[in-house]
Amino acid sequence: MTRYLGDEFLTPTLTEQNTPFFTSGRIQIQFCDDCDHAQQPPDDVCYSCQGTNLAFRATPGTGSVESAVLVHHPIHPALQERVPYVVVVVSVDGAPGCNVTGNVVGCPPESVEIGARVRAVFEEAKDPATGQDLLIPQWELVQD
Ligand SMILES: [Zn+2]
Repeated sequence: MTRYLGDEFLTPTLTEQNTPFFTSGRIQIQFCDDCDHAQQPPDDVCYSCQGTNLAFRATPGTGSVESAVLVHHPIHPALQERVPYVVVVVSVDGAPGCNVTGNVVGCPPESVEIGARVRAVFEEAKDPATGQDLLIPQWELVQD
């Protein structure tokens, strides 16, 4: 089982809205079936037309780094051995206007630049409350 950030790292609490994102092994984004608007995070109502015919669609799993922060200060003791690490906001290909936050793994953190192309990789974990398998999206750099 691959845990990029370590076995002790907290896992997300699953909800009806975030389960596809954290369990499918794909970058699942919510789309409105009425107006085709993509939105992240998911909600009960379309942000564009206020419709409720919403469904998750798998995107290609690639994107571009819109913002990157190189973290040097461990704000929690669990992060003491993890710094430096990079937190990114990725614009998701195939889902206009949708950004997701994550880490870029598998490279020196200082090598991540705004505009870099990335693809999703999935960190395997188990929900400690339910035992459900999780596939937590992270990102790795790709060469164009
Ligand atoms: Zn809509």
